Amino acid sequence: MIVLAMRPNQRVSSIPLSQTLALDARAKAMIAEGRDIINLSVGEPDFDSPAVVREAAKSLIDSGGVRYTPAGGTPSLRTAIAEHLTRSRGTAFSPAQITVCHSAKHALSGALLTLTEPGDEVLLLLPAWVSYFEMVRFAAGTPVAVAPRADLGPDFDTLRRAITPRTRGIMLNSPCNPSGYVFTPGEITALCDLARESDLWILSDEIYSRLVYDGAPYASPVEVSDDARERTVLVDGASKAFAMTGYRMGYLAASEEGASAVARLHSQLAGSPNAVGQHAFEAALADEPPEVAAMAHEFALRRTRLVADLCALGLQTPTPGGAFYVFSDVRPWTDERGSDGFCEDLLEAEGVAAVPGSAFGVEGRVRFSYAASAEALRAAVERLGRFLARRGRAQHFQDSAPT
Ligand code: PMP
Ligand code: GLU
Repeated sequence: MIVLAMRPNQRVSSIPLSQTLALDARAKAMIAEGRDIINLSVGEPDFDSPAVVREAAKSLIDSGGVRYTPAGGTPSLRTAIAEHLTRSRGTAFSPAQITVCHSAKHALSGALLTLTEPGDEVLLLLPAWVSYFEMVRFAAGTPVAVAPRADLGPDFDTLRRAITPRTRGIMLNSPCNPSGYVFTPGEITALCDLARESDLWILSDEIYSRLVYDGAPYASPVEVSDDARERTVLVDGASKAFAMTGYRMGYLAASEEGASAVARLHSQLAGSPNAVGQHAFEAALADEPPEVAAMAHEFALRRTRLVADLCALGLQTPTPGGAFYVFSDVRPWTDERGSDGFCEDLLEAEGVAAVPGSAFGVEGRVRFSYAASAEALRAAVERLGRFLARRGRAQHFQDSAPT
């Protein structure tokens, strides 16, 4: 029997399942069926959470006192986050400017639901993480995609041309998922100048800020000027920095008014964040676990190796400055189904799961996560080589190198 009243409403019906999570679920289901799958789809550190995190989680559980906390997070975690940001971003934050959320995703959606009026245009710098598009739409805004330069960095001419009287904000993600591109300090300053000129807010997703390689500087809009700081909502979390994806811990830092507005919203929609996760996150921030630097070091090694291997196969792959993804140009090997078809065939034929560039608003590329063991990456490259050799380059790309 179909009960029509139970149909999801229009706003929810139009939301697709997150493509990264859907692909991960599909790869895992194939593994459960006994298929030999190398899963390079989801972006999730393949390391255990640091010892101090596990100890803290267990100690709170063992105390018996796992209870509701304030909707915006425990005072002690907000203090730890404010101190961490003050140290790492070079500008002072107070606990009243911090709202702890159920994840960085929850912080981003909370910020967008708080900032966006119906019809507001929000600029998304391509390639943009898959969930940004749907989060902006769900907040009744209009995502406006801005194409990148050839090296996947921001194209300020295109960005300027995308600004209209309806533009209200810009989402920034450095290091970027999926490209790993790290904005230079000059680019961050230019972005802040543009935001000031057009009176835009900046939603700065800094979830990969601890995973920046080669000693490159990490720049955040909050350190550019007082003006930039006031128009920025900074989002970060525990998932990537501390290999704590399952704890679901994120936060935002904003003005006191902004932070408390999101906490008010979340007090009605979601209630207090997970108490165990908060306790464990606080321990991670207090102790700077040694596992974190070791993890970042290992990611950097894998990145260098993987980029070299992919380039050797003929897949043009810029060296990412951060995060744990590479974003390869597969256009010479695509048919009319583009990157979707490439990933579908790669999964079926060789059992390698990767995410099509179309999910991030850029056709002709594929994201491979290197949050996987060195052996898995080596095997994936071997399979990919076989796949490309069998597939052959498309006729129109025979004579020209990919750009
Ligand atoms: N932002 C970006 C760019 C991401 O890749 C992710 C994926 N985890 C998130 C935010 C969300 O992180 P989480 O919800 O695990 O805190
Ligand atoms: N952010 C990760 C990714 O892009 C995790 C999946 C998700 O949260 O969508 O793969």
